[in-house]
Amino acid sequence: MKKLSLSLFTACAFLGAYAQNLEYTVNLNDRSNDLFKVELKVKGLKKENAVYQFASTAPGTYQVMDMGRFVRKFEAFDAKGKTVKTKQLSTNQWELSAPEKVAKIRYEIAETFDTKVDKDKIYAMCGSSIEDDHVLINGQTVFGYPSGMQSAPLKVKLQYPEGWIYGTALEEKEGFLVANSYDHIVDSPILLGKLTKASTKVRNTNVELYTYSKTGKITSEKLLGSMTNMLVAADSFLNGLPVNRYAFLFHFEDTNAGAWEHSYSSEYVIKEENWSEEFGKQMTDIAAHEFFHVVTPLNIHSEIIEKFNFVQPTASEHLWLYEGTTEWASHKMQLNYSIKTLNEYFAELRQKVNYDNYYDKSYSLSKMSLTSYTPEGQKQYGNIYMRGALVAGLLDIRLLELSGGKKGLREVINEFAKEYGPSKSFPEKEWFDVFTKKTYPEIGDFFNKYVKNAEPLPLAEYYEKIGIIYNAEKKTFSLNLSATPEQLRLRERWMRN
Ligand SMILES: [Zn+2]
Repeated sequence: MKKLSLSLFTACAFLGAYAQNLEYTVNLNDRSNDLFKVELKVKGLKKENAVYQFASTAPGTYQVMDMGRFVRKFEAFDAKGKTVKTKQLSTNQWELSAPEKVAKIRYEIAETFDTKVDKDKIYAMCGSSIEDDHVLINGQTVFGYPSGMQSAPLKVKLQYPEGWIYGTALEEKEGFLVANSYDHIVDSPILLGKLTKASTKVRNTNVELYTYSKTGKITSEKLLGSMTNMLVAADSFLNGLPVNRYAFLFHFEDTNAGAWEHSYSSEYVIKEENWSEEFGKQMTDIAAHEFFHVVTPLNIHSEIIEKFNFVQPTASEHLWLYEGTTEWASHKMQLNYSIKTLNEYFAELRQKVNYDNYYDKSYSLSKMSLTSYTPEGQKQYGNIYMRGALVAGLLDIRLLELSGGKKGLREVINEFAKEYGPSKSFPEKEWFDVFTKKTYPEIGDFFNKYVKNAEPLPLAEYYEKIGIIYNAEKKTFSLNLSATPEQLRLRERWMRN
């Protein structure tokens, strides 16, 4: 995620039993009262499926969502249309009194954009909106699942006005959008309405853009024009993108919130502005960040991310990797492929140093990760994009130094991406050791100081290694014009595409 601030399990054996027994219909022709009207057809529910669960959070958001707060009506019916009693057990759980009798569940759930809540306001890019001319659905804001069926396939029929188009990474089959599991639908936002569309092919990856722009100032065509060089750079930086298809979903209206990453798409909620080259650059920066998430956490993550717990938010310690490294890479790849100048890159670093100073400097990246679901942690969370990215930049330099210029963070990440993948997680608790073993003992020391603890960042000392001067007083970066041949060699390596 960037704030401006599959669970594979042993499901295969049960797939037959589950096969498309969850069929959702969402009536988007009725957009009254800011409510989504949802109907779910079910078959053969058992005792263990008796609790209908709404999401308490969602992967990559690191915030409490408690979607049950938005449910306005919850009813169940048998095959003859007779009511089957239901009871709300907790914020996010509704119990079906006789699950085996239930043929239909019907509920209304309020959109998150226009619904007031007194705490835990949901980031707009992770939320939902239902308006006259468009609709935004993030899976967990509209759908839930019967207990024990997080891994069950489901299909969704969207009823919507003629003339609207939709963008999503989900496949359509026989008029239904199909998802392999609840995780999959949460991982696949859907934007509908009067949208513009553009597409391109980057080596082996089909890239699609869908854009809702309140007054039509911003189009998919313009965005694609700005982003194309970045997409090509990302492909090279990663030795080929790890997906064959990717959808960017842009929502430009009145809110400036940020963006949320997914395996095959990302969703942006940004305030609409007049189109300019500068605006295009800003969108490219955010898109580069979200796009890079395809690598981490989507292909490099711990078991906490993979076996996602929608019932109880569970924090991973490794946001330094998921968010910090991603934010670093989104700028670094633009530098290495000459989309950004060195001075623009220095300006970015400087901005991050300045932002880091606004936050609590004794708050380590590990603590930021582990407390992200608490109000205290949320206050520091934004710094994961600042100090997190600065630390990734230092790690890159340290790795280059220790390897004599052979391997920076990019090479190490690419190796890990090959070793792991969407369904092979790294061990949450041992990850620092695994990373250290793969690289150098000194990296263990680096993690101790700058990730697990919050020692002052050695910006001057590290950047000096590559012939760049950091002026701690003015917080500026500049080239050292009398750098040694060794410094020059490492800098050249650092800049190489
Ligand atoms: Zn992110």
